[in-house]
Amino acid sequence: MIKVIMVINSGSSSIKFAMFEHASLTVEYSGEINNIAKDPVFIVSDKKHAVIFKKSITSGYASAFDSLFTWTENSTATFSIMAVGHRIVHGGRFYQAPTIISKEVIANLKTLIPMAPFHQPQNLEAVAIIAKSYPDMLQIACFDTSFHHTQIKLATLFAIPRVLTQEGIFRYGFHGISYEYIASVLPEHIGDKAKGNVIVAHIGNGASMCAMHLQKSVATSMGFTALDGLMMGTRCGNIDPGVLLYLLQEKKYTFEQLQKLLYEQSGLLGVSNLSNDVLELEQSKSPEAAEALELFCFKAARELGSLVTILGGCDAIVFTAGIGENSASVRQGICKWLGWLGVTLNHKANISNQIIISRSNAKILVAVIPTNEDYVIAKHTKTLSTYT
Ligand code: AMP
Repeated sequence: MIKVIMVINSGSSSIKFAMFEHASLTVEYSGEINNIAKDPVFIVSDKKHAVIFKKSITSGYASAFDSLFTWTENSTATFSIMAVGHRIVHGGRFYQAPTIISKEVIANLKTLIPMAPFHQPQNLEAVAIIAKSYPDMLQIACFDTSFHHTQIKLATLFAIPRVLTQEGIFRYGFHGISYEYIASVLPEHIGDKAKGNVIVAHIGNGASMCAMHLQKSVATSMGFTALDGLMMGTRCGNIDPGVLLYLLQEKKYTFEQLQKLLYEQSGLLGVSNLSNDVLELEQSKSPEAAEALELFCFKAARELGSLVTILGGCDAIVFTAGIGENSASVRQGICKWLGWLGVTLNHKANISNQIIISRSNAKILVAVIPTNEDYVIAKHTKTLSTYT
């Protein structure tokens, strides 16, 4: 019998899971259910990343979780699931740390759906389905917002009437589970600089930056929702709010059209008119694809400049997530704007995705560190389940 912690990352089109051995917190099995809405495929891999089970299943979240738990019950290994840890995008003002999920927690988290309409409902649906099938299962929520509760106050404020701020309309920040992991491993990769001023760029399909001092968040590029800041795969990032007013008044956009535009039709996809996938854009010969990538890098460098100002300097820059870990050309495209700051890349190291990619004599250390959100969730889930 293997005692495991199950980690669930339930997104809008896929569910990812990982099963961590309870004592060692090493991954025993992981996998995903892709294309939840249409022709999903359930895939399980072993600890060596070899696919050991693959099956087409019927669409929908309930069927996806049914497949997962049926597999755990019928697998050759026998599991005892100690607890399930969830990635929950928004904890709002309610939660600044991981928490055990109860009916009251679910009710609180539901109120945050308008602030994360394409993440929070799926996160909560996973919790509800598991609670229905396994009412006694301990479920833990880990929030993408929690890590940023140490931000300086000015970095959290919008310049809007105070009464709205008091209602909770301020900058929460996201990708905090990833930032927490990177902060925890900074010393082993960049030594004493970990305690200095570090800017971490979590650049995947969703993208943000976090300015850290003493491994804590001081400011971050995402705000009230995961729309703000950097240009992303399909989200526009920061935008003149007057554009939205114009679209509403002059172009008669409905709420749904505006929401779709901002979350699903903008960013790399919107500018390239081709794809949100950096790999595909890098291989394309289209000038729009090239411009989309250039704008992506330009906006990231611009944001980084503002975070350097908030920190009053920068000792290191860290790239992480799908694009940050894998695209040498995006890292180069961002760093080319930062020569003034003392950033110079070692091109060989950058192209081969090494951990330290800056030149040895460069003023600013630049590193590539793979993130591991699942591990952070497993660790918190284990800790909280130990005290119940
Ligand atoms: P994530 O959301 O962190 O999974 O990141 C997804 C993004 O990473 C997509 O835009 C992918 O195209 C990009 N990506 C993944 N692998 C590579 C690669 N080898 N080169 C360039 N981009 C990549």
